Amino acid sequence: MPGPRSYLGVELARPRVGVFDFTSCEGCQLQFVNNEATLLDFLDLMELVNFREAMTEQAGDYDIALVEGSISRADEVTRLEKIRTQAKILVALGSCACFGGVNQLKNRFNDLKWVKKEVYGNFPIATQKVRPISDFVTVDFMLYGCPPRKEEIEKVVTNLVVGKKITMPKYPVCMECKANENICLFGLGEPCLGPITRAGCDAWCPNNRRGCWGCRGPAEAANVRELEAIMARHGFSREIIIDRLECFGGFAGQVAELRRQSEHPRKARSTGQA
Ligand code: SF4
Ligand code: SF4
Ligand code: SF4
Repeated sequence: MPGPRSYLGVELARPRVGVFDFTSCEGCQLQFVNNEATLLDFLDLMELVNFREAMTEQAGDYDIALVEGSISRADEVTRLEKIRTQAKILVALGSCACFGGVNQLKNRFNDLKWVKKEVYGNFPIATQKVRPISDFVTVDFMLYGCPPRKEEIEKVVTNLVVGKKITMPKYPVCMECKANENICLFGLGEPCLGPITRAGCDAWCPNNRRGCWGCRGPAEAANVRELEAIMARHGFSREIIIDRLECFGGFAGQVAELRRQSEHPRKARSTGQA
């Protein structure tokens, strides 16, 4: 819907917005358009000019780029750099773009040739170590989650469009979970990364009796040591914690530290130290 829009008599700029995908399941893009109740008002804020999943037309000039997916091929780097050159604001949309997401689980395997053979057989396919988009271009804003909640996408994009400051929660998922009066899942025998994961999803998984897997990455001052103590009290091993922490890539630093701690005693034993 082209043309100027106004609010209280003041004309609003309608930035040109592009939505782009790289290695991903396209679920984050789907969130962009999945709320029929607000969709028309939401889209009326902007001029959507490039969105392969939702429209046929494609324009090369846009102000805001929302980028979904991680980088797993050399040609994706070139395309991403071109998008960055064009966009005034570039938003990483979802865990794949922010951290590598579930795709980065491939990086657990050192032998990429073996991975290709197992997954694709003899079909030739270009693939490389999975990395977040911030490894290649400057990212102005991260929209976390696998996928981000629709309400959060609307809020962030609306604030970007009207030029309002965006603040994201720094506290952990537990805060939202308690505010929603959920029974803590540890009491029901389910592990949960809520104590160390960045809030903003309204405790989506615990609300549905599922433990958090940390798709939004670490909360401010995330205390992994304390989480480990909580997990241990409920009978969950360090390997279970690492397995969850590794799932979306947001806790890479914490995983490396836990692995280092796990390997250290073994090294010490092998050198005959106590
Ligand atoms: S972050 Fe999750 S929902 Fe979004 S593209 Fe990646 S796998 Fe799909
Ligand atoms: S269920 Fe998870 S998020 Fe909720 S209070 Fe317990 S640990 Fe925190
Ligand atoms: S509860 Fe955890 S895994 Fe679930 S959406 Fe929120 S941050 Fe992601």
